[in-house]
Amino acid sequence: MSLRTAACGFGARLRGVLQPCPAAVAGRRAFVAAAPQAVQSVLEAELDSIRAAGTWKGERVITSKQGPHICVDGSRGDILNFCANNYLGLSSHPEVVKAGVEALQKYGAGLSSVRFICGTQNIHKNLEEKLAQFHEREDCILYASCFDANAGLFEVLLGPDDAVLSDELNHASIIDGIRLCRAKRFRYKHMDLNDLEEKLKESQSSRLRLVVTDGVFSMDGDVAPLKGICDLAEQYGAMVFIDECHATGFMGARGRGTDELLGVMDRVQIVNSTLGKALGGAAGGYTVGPKALIELLRQRSRPYLFSNSLPPPVVGCATRAVELLLASNEIAQSMAAKTMRFRNNMTQAGFTISGSAHPICPVMLGDARLASLMADDMLKLGVYVIGFSYPVVPKGKARIRVQISAAHTDEDIDRTVDAFIQTGRKHGVIS
Ligand code: PLP
Repeated sequence: MSLRTAACGFGARLRGVLQPCPAAVAGRRAFVAAAPQAVQSVLEAELDSIRAAGTWKGERVITSKQGPHICVDGSRGDILNFCANNYLGLSSHPEVVKAGVEALQKYGAGLSSVRFICGTQNIHKNLEEKLAQFHEREDCILYASCFDANAGLFEVLLGPDDAVLSDELNHASIIDGIRLCRAKRFRYKHMDLNDLEEKLKESQSSRLRLVVTDGVFSMDGDVAPLKGICDLAEQYGAMVFIDECHATGFMGARGRGTDELLGVMDRVQIVNSTLGKALGGAAGGYTVGPKALIELLRQRSRPYLFSNSLPPPVVGCATRAVELLLASNEIAQSMAAKTMRFRNNMTQAGFTISGSAHPICPVMLGDARLASLMADDMLKLGVYVIGFSYPVVPKGKARIRVQISAAHTDEDIDRTVDAFIQTGRKHGVIS
């Protein structure tokens, strides 16, 4: 590759697929391949169809750190943030940030290696131990993300003689992970125990069976019926897996998750979760479960074997977050009242809020364009919320997903409800 090509940069080369590189336009020889016309037409048509459907996902640019009050490029002053998964407000917690800085200084920016070559530091082992302790499971393995943890689990655990029974609304990363494994697949209706039982009967002849569900479903904030799931799993000799990304740190009396909330910590065998939401919000995911499974994952799980170790600052931040939660359940409990304040006031104002007591509060609107327009109007009133539409949620079920954080004040919540009332009236959603 010539220097001149390199100077165009990766972004420019990528753009070159859609339009010529500026250097090429300036009359010099084009080093960057333009897309053949046929490819360009296909891409443009696809992009146009997304715009036409009103499902285009723009990205707003935040110019401050994550928190309940942020600065957003193009908007004046302080903006109230109600769309982060920063459930416990730990993303910018001073102790969490300090631990990240200290880990950066002591252990460097990164390992330049996967774990099994020369990428395991004492801080990785320590975090794995703390997470296993937090979830009260035998062992833990870290990944670069929970997406990776979900991509790496099923293929290792389940073969062609086995079966996986998965809730139809499970997270995309679970669906992708299951696609990678060779087990027989059974998809049961969302949170439908009767249908799950049917599928358990159908899969009787399998060697191993794994029931797979999100603990909390992120688009609706609804909690999986884990007690019923565990009862059925035990009756039919199956194991239970839960994805706790939207539960770890704050569901249950000590924030251990939906398994704690529903009293089934000793009946759910495998838990995957993220460090990228309540636990400091940086990045990273993990699996906790039986020691033999975790050992097997270290030997065979492809996203673990073939991807870089978690960077020390990320490990430092997450470790401090877990330590804070192990030391006290105060933060975990601080959110419930705020969540109920928002849900009750919005319902009284005439809005439909999906889910029950979870800090994910989906304001149901139906129409994709309406959700997007209302979110834009909310930002004009100083409140940052996001409209979700197909394919993230089913067609006709567009919504604005509001997420409450322990760091929000009552005043923040009241201001947001007022802004919803104003925009809801403007768009005819409420009278
Ligand atoms: N599982 C669920 C339920 C999620 O909501 C997410 C993130 O959006 C993931 C997995 C992936 O987590 P991560 O961001 O750590 O890859």
